[in-house]
Amino acid sequence: MKQNETLSNIHLKDGKIILTEEEIDAAGDNHISTSVDTPMRAGAFDQSEDEKIAAIEERFAEIMDILGLDLTDDSLRGTPKRVAKMYVKEIFNGLNPANKPKMALFENKYKYNEMLVEKNISFYSNCEHHFVPIMGKAHIAYISNGTVVGLSKLNRLVDYFAKRPQVQERLTMQIAKELQKDLGTEDVAVLIDAKHLCVASRGVEDDTSSTVTAFYGGKFKDEKVREEFLRYLGLNTQF
Ligand SMILES: [Zn+2]
Repeated sequence: MKQNETLSNIHLKDGKIILTEEEIDAAGDNHISTSVDTPMRAGAFDQSEDEKIAAIEERFAEIMDILGLDLTDDSLRGTPKRVAKMYVKEIFNGLNPANKPKMALFENKYKYNEMLVEKNISFYSNCEHHFVPIMGKAHIAYISNGTVVGLSKLNRLVDYFAKRPQVQERLTMQIAKELQKDLGTEDVAVLIDAKHLCVASRGVEDDTSSTVTAFYGGKFKDEKVREEFLRYLGLNTQF
């Protein structure tokens, strides 16, 4: 989360971090993000889904061709279209705000004012620096201040933000900030434990490590509250 501290010579322009070419390479290799919001260009959704699929199909075919693959082969012929559809309609459909799940809120009738923990929410995402999978579990907790949210919505929210090119720190923050906004409380915690295939299948090729990121808002900044959360998760509080 303290990504700024790991970079030297931070240059800010209009509140955005400006990196040199070398720093951009290093940031990508070290999986450092430059903002909480997913960086989107202007007019990101001017094209329809079908237009995007057609454009990506064409370009993905070019990439395969450059790699030397024979696109007339029956097994490969359908791949560009398949990949394009998968990008737009499945694994990156969380880029489009139109796909954001509606968070129906309910009155907290039982006056349950203790911590609510939804743990082991499985998700699949993709690393924005290498476009290979990140997979893991998200654990979410909040303390209601009068409203509660349907439990399945927490899964859907994780899924929505996971279906973008991501870095784990940003995924953690985006889920937490959205929940804080929807529930009208600062008292939200999000912990993510995930495996990055760009670390496992390439680069340092470490197959056993996983990355843990956490966000603690409001009451969760209190050590006792945080420990209660981590106890529910069955995690050691040494994090
Ligand atoms: Zn990566």
